[in-house]
Amino acid sequence: MSEHKIAPTPQNYSVWIAYASDSIPELCENIKSHLDRGAPIDETVSEELYDRFFTFRRMQDAVLDTGGAMSRELGAVVKTLEAAERDTAAYGEALAGASGQLNKPTDEATFKQMVEGLVQATARMQRRSRDLEKRLQETSQEVDQLRHNLEKVREEAMTDALTGVANRKRFDEAMRKARRGAELQGEDFSLILCDIDHFKRFNDTWGHQTGDQIIRFVAACLCRYSKDYHVVARYGGEEFGFVLPRTSIKEARTIAEKIRSTVESKRLLRKSTNEDLGHITVSLGVAAYHKGESIESLIERCDTNLYKSKQSGRNRITVDIETEPQTRNGAAAA
Ligand code: GH3
Ligand code: MG
Ligand code: MG
Repeated sequence: MSEHKIAPTPQNYSVWIAYASDSIPELCENIKSHLDRGAPIDETVSEELYDRFFTFRRMQDAVLDTGGAMSRELGAVVKTLEAAERDTAAYGEALAGASGQLNKPTDEATFKQMVEGLVQATARMQRRSRDLEKRLQETSQEVDQLRHNLEKVREEAMTDALTGVANRKRFDEAMRKARRGAELQGEDFSLILCDIDHFKRFNDTWGHQTGDQIIRFVAACLCRYSKDYHVVARYGGEEFGFVLPRTSIKEARTIAEKIRSTVESKRLLRKSTNEDLGHITVSLGVAAYHKGESIESLIERCDTNLYKSKQSGRNRITVDIETEPQTRNGAAAA
């Protein structure tokens, strides 16, 4: 890990321990092929491997656990129902027997005995019904709890652990959904990509942990302008994707500009020591979906705009309705 300058985080350790112990063949193949090609295995690659092999495994384990618990619970209910069915049949027989007796002349003692028997059978049946009702109520609570747990795991599997925003998996899902809305309902659909400026320099000066603090700060700035039908996602190491369904390019540009100026305006303090970290800036690319195009093509155009923002000095936004890079306040450059 130190050879490839991989930070010693729990996630990275999981990936590299799996590689060293050869416990996940596909993951090992993936890393080996990177090494063979001489391709760098940086933070982003390590993170993608974690997402791909570990969040999915956690999800699978949780599904299996939940499935097992659900099946045990239902097995117990079936047993209770079977017992209730036996009691119901016995009660039915007791009733039928009594009704048969009523058609014949009986002495008082036999009649009393018959009534006594019926009272007992009815009491047993009532008890059984109460037990059954209680058992079914417990089961319904248990199943609700299991459903809730599964939902929580699904949520975790779609969330970026560092920032709490969506991860790449949810980003992909949101992009597909927004594209469907645009294709089928003709809705607007825009995308913002946002990358922190000179972040390597920042990391080298202040260390990885303070770097992480900055990534969280930028995520919070993005979330500030996110409506409930938008999705803010950590797209890569220090890069974010902001999926904007039902949002025109003009609205997206306004949001991108607000994000840019909010990040720039804050003076940052190092949490551990209260040292002044100064300001950081972000560069953004904004693009609108063109009917019929692929998701990859939209991302590529948006990424080109982000690149233009970097090329023309950083701390700016570039929107694809104008070919010119934008000035700091979002108007077309002279
Ligand atoms: P530019 O303005 O061109 O974007 O310059 P940059 O230095 O920000 O370049 P780039 O976007 O390529 O930098 C990515 C760096 O972000 C590389 C890596 O050191 C750092 N990084 C990636 N993921 C993490 C992370 O999870 N935590 C921290 N602290 N740093 C990360
Ligand atoms: Mg950067
Ligand atoms: Mg980057």
